Amino acid sequence: MRFGIHTLDEVSVKGKVILCRVDINQPVDRATDSLKSTHRIEACVPTVEELLEGGGRVVLLAHQGSDIEYKNYYTTRPHALVLSRLLGREVKWIEDVCGPLARQAIRELKDGEALLLDNVRFCAEEQTLFEKNLKLTHAQQAQTQVVSKLAPLADLYVCDAFAAAHRDQPSLCGFEQLLPSCMGRLFEKEYCVISQLMQSPQRPCVFVLGGAKVADAFLMMETVLKGGAADQVLTGGLVGNILLAAKGEDIGQASLDFIRKEGYQEFIQSSQALLERYGDKIQLPTDLVYVQGCAMDIGPNTAAAYQRAIRAAKTVFVNGPMGVFEKPETEAGTRMVWDALADTQAFTVVGGGDSVTATKKYGKTQDIGYLCTGGGALIRFLTGEELPVVRALRHAAQVFPLGGDRP
Ligand code: ADP
Ligand code: MG
Repeated sequence: MRFGIHTLDEVSVKGKVILCRVDINQPVDRATDSLKSTHRIEACVPTVEELLEGGGRVVLLAHQGSDIEYKNYYTTRPHALVLSRLLGREVKWIEDVCGPLARQAIRELKDGEALLLDNVRFCAEEQTLFEKNLKLTHAQQAQTQVVSKLAPLADLYVCDAFAAAHRDQPSLCGFEQLLPSCMGRLFEKEYCVISQLMQSPQRPCVFVLGGAKVADAFLMMETVLKGGAADQVLTGGLVGNILLAAKGEDIGQASLDFIRKEGYQEFIQSSQALLERYGDKIQLPTDLVYVQGCAMDIGPNTAAAYQRAIRAAKTVFVNGPMGVFEKPETEAGTRMVWDALADTQAFTVVGGGDSVTATKKYGKTQDIGYLCTGGGALIRFLTGEELPVVRALRHAAQVFPLGGDRP
């Protein structure tokens, strides 16, 4: 038991039907019926491998995209191919989530075999709209189609989807009401790294916050400054621009217009209080790179100062690039910060989709202490909220002692 949740160390999986929820949601290339990245699939391989090696009958549940980001809303068939290649054994796939075909395929599984079901979000109850508008309790989630049809066929639920742990949805929080449950290896690892970072980081502990998810970045900044985890916050990207504007610095009319257009005007006011209270800990860019009057990257002096801070730190957490790193004229700031991340002695954690992309682009994957699969979950975790999936797994640990018979 760790964090009040059962781990894979406590279960025997031989001959058991295991529902294993993973987060292998990736950008899709519809034209070639393939995935543009396989980072998250690679990350869940150790758990799946362990379950198969132990003789489990593994049923994988996953989502791919959603109704609101329709371009990525897709079947999980390409994921099964990637998984098969990575595992070096066939992962079966079925064009069904919890209907008769899926249930038959589950019944036919043998020890050491794996089956990936189709996109769980093809079931409406798994959609964000349902989550937000209906706010089903966890007990109600147990009555949804996917949970009520699949749980009776299974002996154990394993959640390895830390990246989706902030989602209050049936395939994530419903099975824990009916089945003995535990977290997978990736979930456990990400939970450990992040709680360590929050509770007892090696100091100095530096947070580098940039990018364009402004609301999340400010929430996180406030949390780590209030809670004392951060000794220093280095800011860049749109987040840095907003803080500069809050301080009354001139960032150019085009930058201000962009902030207004994106709907972040209110943060210029609200971040003033943050600056007054923690001004000594928050570092702002001292120079910027402009494209058509708009500030799109931190300048060379700022990047050099951030490099020094990162190299002097013992722990560094990064979320969000320093500029529009996708374009060559505004990538230098991000590249320089990532150079320092690669050669600092500090323990480094990088989280967020675009930040992981930057890490790959600059060839630093091997040099980062921990690349976190979760964006939203990570941010919500850092704000101190108990994540819905964590709550559900803790509930299961109390109701279903592992090793016991099914109720
Ligand atoms: P992550 O995915 O790592 O959490 P975000 O999604 O918050 O990061 O931010 C990444 C995006 O922010 C990138 O697409 C980048 O182009 C954009 N960005 C960075 N700096 C700026 C800036 N100064 N103005 C506008 N967009 C920016
Ligand atoms: Mg992003």
